[in-house]
Amino acid sequence: MSLAHVDPEIAELIKAEERRQADTVKLIPSENYVSRAVLEATGTVLTNKYSEGYAGKRYYEGQQVIDQIESIAIDRAKSLFGVNHANVQPYSGSPANLAIYLAFLQPGDTVMGMGLPFGGHLTHGWSVSATGKWFTPVRYGVREDTGRIDMDEVRALALEHRPKLIFCGGTAIPREIDFPAFASIAREVGAVLAADIAHIAGLIAGGAHPSPVGHADVISTTTHKTLRGPRGAMLMATSDEHATALNKAVFPGLQGGPHNHTTAAIAVALKEASTPEFSVYAHQVVANSRALAEELLARGFDLVSGGTDNHLILIDLTSKGVAGKPAAKALDRAGLETNYNTVPFDPRKPFDPSGIRIGTPSVTSRGMGEAEMRQIGAWMDEVVTAVAKDDAEDVIARVHGELSELTARFPAPGLA
Ligand SMILES: *Cc1c(COP(=O)(O)O)cnc(C)c1O
Repeated sequence: MSLAHVDPEIAELIKAEERRQADTVKLIPSENYVSRAVLEATGTVLTNKYSEGYAGKRYYEGQQVIDQIESIAIDRAKSLFGVNHANVQPYSGSPANLAIYLAFLQPGDTVMGMGLPFGGHLTHGWSVSATGKWFTPVRYGVREDTGRIDMDEVRALALEHRPKLIFCGGTAIPREIDFPAFASIAREVGAVLAADIAHIAGLIAGGAHPSPVGHADVISTTTHKTLRGPRGAMLMATSDEHATALNKAVFPGLQGGPHNHTTAAIAVALKEASTPEFSVYAHQVVANSRALAEELLARGFDLVSGGTDNHLILIDLTSKGVAGKPAAKALDRAGLETNYNTVPFDPRKPFDPSGIRIGTPSVTSRGMGEAEMRQIGAWMDEVVTAVAKDDAEDVIARVHGELSELTARFPAPGLA
């Protein structure tokens, strides 16, 4: 029996979300639209199968097909990123990062990562995370004058605290990550270097951002952000020793049975990511981000670090006289989906910060280019300026109307 028949309530809500996604200009940099093929693989009978262990060494029978699917996903990850080992079983980015701690640290050991308010991830040792409670975190940030990571500060902190593990990468970093510089610091202090490329994996796969391969000891990534796969994660390594430690940490260290429907969808996404079209998409994501940043700068927006090298733009709205949250809420009502975000050295509270974070992966997946980015920048300016004057209702309604023409012209992949 169909979903609509068994559970019309949920079926209707899924349709409503599909319409919402189709009608919205999605600027959240960690999101994307997966293809029909990826969606199809996700909703399959593979969800019925238990397969604790790894191909050829499982704890359940009946792995004739699953072993092949997981092996294909692993081979594609290895060839796409140019690594010797890949584990495609982590349930998501956060559990993947936990596996790195389990593989290389003891409770209480020191981990160094970017502070959450500067753009790091919770799992890089932030205080409310298990990684900040069970380990000893040391945090680096960005310079106040440049908005960029200061590698001299990172080195000084590393020499002082001697972390066993260093994370680079994050969730709100608009600039290229200097993997060789992090690697040389990690080597100097004898730390394991983990590159968390969750946000930029698709750019790396498409050749639009330098790769951490050859620099980082281990690489962690989600599969659902710029990489445009299902919700999931991967861990990659070059050395046999690191790979063995990671595999043991994922299973049996942290997880039980892998989500085989997700594994299949990861395999499909990796196949898509190895095509020339994907490389065009990755470069267009960056070109669009630059065009949107230029438009916003021309309209008096204050961008953290002054611009972007990647898919992401962090806006400090202080100069526009409005906080992040009311701006994000008004933009959402106008059909522009963003998220409010802290900016470095934010004087406001994390739940009501000064900034918003935007990005171009989703609009690029819809086929939009630089001209559309300039239009989006203009709409953002109109809405934010109106919110600051406390007179936004008419502007929100008008922008929403204009924007509907744009979303109709650029249908999102995977949506009906
Ligand atoms: C998104 C993200 C994660 C966590 O991924 P989840 O799938 O949400 O658990 C980890 N690290 C970074 C840098 C991320 O951007």
